[in-house]
Amino acid sequence: MVETVGGEPLFRRLALIGIGLIGSSVARIAMERGDLAAEVVVNARTQKTLDRVMELGIAHRVEIDPAAAVRGADCVMLCAPVGAFAELAAAIAPHLAPGAILTDVGSTKQSVIRDVGPLVPEGVHFVPAHPLAGTEFSGPDAGFTTLFVNRWTLLTPPAGTDPEAVEKTAELWRRCGSMIETMEPGHHDRVLAIVSHLPHLIAFTICGTADDLADESRQQVTKFAASGFRDFTRIAASDPVMWRDVFLNNREALLEMLQRFMEDAQAMARAVRWGDASYIEDKVERGRKIRRSLIEQKQA
Ligand code: NAP
Repeated sequence: MVETVGGEPLFRRLALIGIGLIGSSVARIAMERGDLAAEVVVNARTQKTLDRVMELGIAHRVEIDPAAAVRGADCVMLCAPVGAFAELAAAIAPHLAPGAILTDVGSTKQSVIRDVGPLVPEGVHFVPAHPLAGTEFSGPDAGFTTLFVNRWTLLTPPAGTDPEAVEKTAELWRRCGSMIETMEPGHHDRVLAIVSHLPHLIAFTICGTADDLADESRQQVTKFAASGFRDFTRIAASDPVMWRDVFLNNREALLEMLQRFMEDAQAMARAVRWGDASYIEDKVERGRKIRRSLIEQKQA
C-alpha cells in the first residue's frame, strides 16, 4: 500500500492520456492518496476503456477527446504507447494551459523528446519521465497502487527545463513510492536497451523459436516449461503494440546491444563446441553474481 498522506494536492487537475497498466496505476494512487491531484481526468481512444475506468472508479471524469481532457489541467501525463505520442502531442498542444507540466511515462526517451518536444507551446514545462516498473499485463484493470514502490523513475529533462517543474514531477513520483534519478536521454535509451528492451527481444524470439518446432516437441516445450522457458514466456506475454513501439523508437541502441549480445552468444557457442569448461563456468558464475547483487539492492 502506498502511504496515504492526504495533504495539499500537488496538482489541481491531472490529465492521463492513455490508461493501461502504468496510467491506471497512477490514477489509482491519485484517487487513493488525494494529495497527488484534486481532480483526475482520463483520456483513451475507445469508449469501452473509458467506461471501464468509470466502473473501476479510478478517475473523476473521462474524455474521449484528448483536447478536452487536457484543458485546464496543470499536469498532463502521456501514458499511451510511444508510437502514438507525436499524434497525441499535436492534438493536445494548442489546449495546454500556460504553466502546466507536460510529462510522460514512455519507455524510450530520445524519441519522445524528438516527437513531442517541438510541439510544446511556450510557457508549458516538458519533463519526460520513465518509471522502471511493470508487469506483463495491460489495460485499465492491470494497474495497482504499489507498482512503483521502491522502483526507480528516471527523469530526462531537456537542457533549460524549469528546475521547479522537474522537482514537482519528481515529487509526483516520490508520492507514488518511486526513487528518482535524472539522466541524459541518450544514456537512458542505451541503459534501457540492455536492461529491458534486449531481454524482451530475446524472450519474444525464443518463444517464436520454440513455437516453430515440430508439433511433438512443441507439446513437450509447454509441458516441461518450468525448466527455464517459463520465465521467458512471462516476459513474452507483454503488450504487442507497446513493444513494437519501443523497438522501433529505440532502434539504434537496441541494435547495438543485440550485436554485442550475438557476439557473446557466438563466443559461448564456440566454448560449447570446443569443450571450454572454464569459459562456460565463468559466464554462469557472472550471471549468479548479477542476480545476487540485484537481491542485495532489493530490485529482484
Ligand atoms: P497498456 O496497458 O498497453 O495500455 C495502453 C493504454 O493507452 C490503453 O489505455 C489504451 O486504451 C491507450 N491508448 C493506446 N493508444 C492510444 C492513443 N493513440 N491515444 C490515446 N490512448 C491510447 O500500456 P502500458 O503498459 O501502461 O504502457 C503505457 C506507456 O508506458 C508506454 O509508453 C510504455 O512504453 C510505458 N511503460 C510501460 C511499462 C510496462 O511494463 N508496461 C513500464 C514502463 C513504461 P485504448 O485502447 O482504449 O485507447
